[in-house]
Amino acid sequence: MSSMIAYCGINCSECPAYIATQTNDDNERKKVAEMWAKQYNPNLTAKDINCDGCITSSTKVFSWCNECPIRKCGKEKSVNNCAYCVEYAACDKLATFFKMAPKAKDTLDNIRKGKSR
Ligand code: SF4
Ligand code: SF4
Repeated sequence: MSSMIAYCGINCSECPAYIATQTNDDNERKKVAEMWAKQYNPNLTAKDINCDGCITSSTKVFSWCNECPIRKCGKEKSVNNCAYCVEYAACDKLATFFKMAPKAKDTLDNIRKGKSR
């Protein structure tokens, strides 16, 4: 499975919904749905767990990520991910998100330093 970094810096390749989809594993879909139903949305079921990752050209993207304002913005600006955006350092959307996801910030910072892609 190849590596995919989302616009926001999340590593989609490590996301359980991505893994369940790419391996087409219905048992895993069920497990992820049960876990995320407890954490995020009680209405989620296994059929909701289908995602080809944030930067895919496929329409198969998990519902929350499909509505994500960072993803929408990155697509509009046609950047590979937010690390490539000229507004990166001053972006309010990212600043708010990074408080919840410091690892995503590290990933994008490293891309900007040329340490990874
Ligand atoms: S876009 Fe898909 S693979 Fe990436 S974090 Fe969201 S649900 Fe997971
Ligand atoms: S302004 Fe740039 S850094 Fe901010 S969300 Fe949009 S693409 Fe990402």
